[in-house]
This record gives sequence, structure tokens and C-alpha cells, in this order.
Amino acid sequence: MEMKELIRNAFTERFGTPEGEFFASAGRINLIGEHTDYNEGFVFPGAIDKVIMAEIRPNGTDRVRVFSIDIDEYCEFGLREEDAPEQGWARYIFGVCREIIKRGGKVGGFDTVFAGNVPLGAGLSSSAALESCFAFALNELFNEGKIDKFELAKIGQSTEHNYCGVNCGIMDQFASVFGKKGSLIRLDCRDLSYEYFPFAPEHHRLVLIDSRVKHELKDSPYNKRRESCERVAKSLGVPSLRDVSLAELNAVKVTLSDEDYRRAKYVIEERDRVLTVCAALERGDYDEVGKMMYATHEGLSKDYEVSCEELDFLADTAKELGVTGSRIMGGGFGGCTINLVENDLYDKFVTEAVARFKQKYGHEPKVYDVIISDGARRVE
Ligand code: ADP
Ligand code: MG
Repeated sequence: MEMKELIRNAFTERFGTPEGEFFASAGRINLIGEHTDYNEGFVFPGAIDKVIMAEIRPNGTDRVRVFSIDIDEYCEFGLREEDAPEQGWARYIFGVCREIIKRGGKVGGFDTVFAGNVPLGAGLSSSAALESCFAFALNELFNEGKIDKFELAKIGQSTEHNYCGVNCGIMDQFASVFGKKGSLIRLDCRDLSYEYFPFAPEHHRLVLIDSRVKHELKDSPYNKRRESCERVAKSLGVPSLRDVSLAELNAVKVTLSDEDYRRAKYVIEERDRVLTVCAALERGDYDEVGKMMYATHEGLSKDYEVSCEELDFLADTAKELGVTGSRIMGGGFGGCTINLVENDLYDKFVTEAVARFKQKYGHEPKVYDVIISDGARRVE
């Protein structure tokens, strides 16, 4: 059954008529630009054709009544701070309500049923899809669409921070809210300016291969990476690595530890790779995009050292099979590779990558094909 129909049936069964209105928002990928956000560089995400969809009807009370089809649970809560629900999934919706209210917006009670097909916890940001779906919808239903889109993204981000215990950046919610079919969005993490670039390949597809491993590492590797970057920026007398050229870095190489040097080199090269990819997309040069993806993988693996055996295996397999581009997507140490694959090679690559991975590591990776699609929206 189609998602919308499934939701409608569950909605009328639970809440009767009249019917509500439908809204959706999307998960996201990041084509390139990894570990750049905290260095004031660029990220380059886009919304995908995997969404959270909700039917919502204001109910004239101060209570929210919500049913999650996928989790098969019902939850009811009020809109005051002390009304926070227990269930983790419901806190995303409660948080969005609260963050709108904290900003002076209006939220009244409503009945809602929602479902989705963004895989949970796979690095495609199902949580941002959920937040953005409700932030967008509650803006339309209770605030006449007056809250601007950036604020909607920040409402989602603050929800993660204040109600879900996740200290995330803005990229996921930004991509989910601003996503546009056939476009990726370059977000400048220094000043949050952004620009759309075309991404609508005729001869290529994007596919994620999820290793389904997550290596838990001792002594907080993320913080150590950040500290390296900050140390190098400080020694160059700049606020971040954003404005440092490779030549400037090389000029002070002897004063840096080998590790700090390689960390900074990766960050500087990655900043430039995002710009190279944007220029390539404007010419429709997907081969160049793919080369940059491999270069990012190499940098993340050898210089930034946030890869792992399984992800290197997947990227190496892609290269060996002639895939256009492949790299780790996300922070590293597990999760997915994102692959840019020629249409003709797609079936062979997916079959081979899954089989070879399974043979080596004993379990099958998951495969998610993605198409760059619209973000938060009303569904007619
Ligand atoms: P991700 O990387 O997918 O964002 P998170 O752990 O940040 O992973 O968010 C996943 C959480 O979001 C789930 O545990 C659940 O609480 C909520 N969520 C996501 N998708 C759904 C869904 N379809 N139905 C209910 N809750 C969902
Ligand atoms: Mg998340």
C-alpha cells in the first residue's frame, strides 16, 4: 500500500473524520564535505526520496495525540515543558512543538498519524526528516507559514539538543528543510550562506552501501580531530582552517606534529574538493565528481584516519569494479559508503559488493538507492 493511503487508513480508524492535511520531509545524503563543518568549511547535502509523512488535524484542545505506524505506538502529551513524553520517538515531535513555542510561535493541540521509509540510524537522518516534517507542518497549520525556513531547520536542531540528547550541527535539518529535486545545496558553515547546484545525472545513480558496523572507539576520536584542527589554526593565527591554503600549511609543516599536519591537510583539501565538485556539476562532469569522492575517501582513511577496514573494503571494491566515485559518508568508523555508479554498472556493482562483503565479514550490508528530491513540503 502506498504510504499516504496507509496513513489515511490508520488516521480515520483512530481519529475518525474530518480528515487532516498531509505533510512530508526527507532524509538526506551529503555528497562531499566531511568533517568540514567545525572547520568553517562547506558541506554539500541534498534531500532524498525517502521521507517521513504525517497526516495532521488540529483538534481544538491543548493535547497532542500521535500514532507512529512504524513503531506501532500511541502517545499523548500536553504542550508545556513538564509534559514531555517518555517515548524517544515522541520527544522529537514534542521538542518541535516546544521550540516553536519558545520562539514565540503558536502550536495548539492536534491529532496525527505518521510513517516513514528513511532507514533509522543508517546515517540518512531519519530524525531530521521527522523534525522537519512537523516543523514545516506546524508552521503552516498554526503560524500561517510565517516562520522562515532557516528557523524551521534550527527548530529541528534545537529539538535534538534539548529534547533528544544529540549535539548535532545544522546540516541534516537544513538539507531536509531546503532540499530540492535535482539539486544539492552547498552550505557554508562559516556564515550559513548557501547555494543550489544541479545534481540530476542522466547516466549515473547514487547508492549507499551500509556496512552495518559501528566501531566504538576509546578516547573520543572526534574531539581529538577537532583539537588537532584548532591547534593548527591557532599556530597559524587564524580562527579556523577555512582561510588557510596548502602552501601556508606546508610553510609551517616542520613546526607541527605529523598527525596534526595530516589532519589539517585533509581539511584544507576537502574544502577545495567541495568547490571543485560544484564547478564540475555546473558542467555536468560526473567523472570529476567521482574522482573527488575517491580522493575524499583516501583523505579520510589515510590522513584524517576515521575510516575502518569494512569501509575501506567497500570503497576499494567500488574502485576495482569501475564505479565512478565512492567514499565514506558521515563521521566515519562505520556506517555507509556513498557511491556514484554508472547506470550500466549498477546491478553488477550492488550484487558484487554485497556478495564480497558478506563473504569477508559474515553479514550482508544494506543497500539504499537514493534520488535527490524535495525536502519539507505539503503533500496534496
Ligand atoms: P538517524 O541517523 O536516522 O537520524 P537517529 O538515531 O538520529 O538516527 O534518529 C532515529 C530516531 O528517530 C528513532 O530512534 C526514532 O525515535 C525516530 N524516528 C525516525 N524515523 C522514525 C519513524 N519512521 N517512526 C518513528 N520514529 C522514527
Ligand atoms: Mg539523526
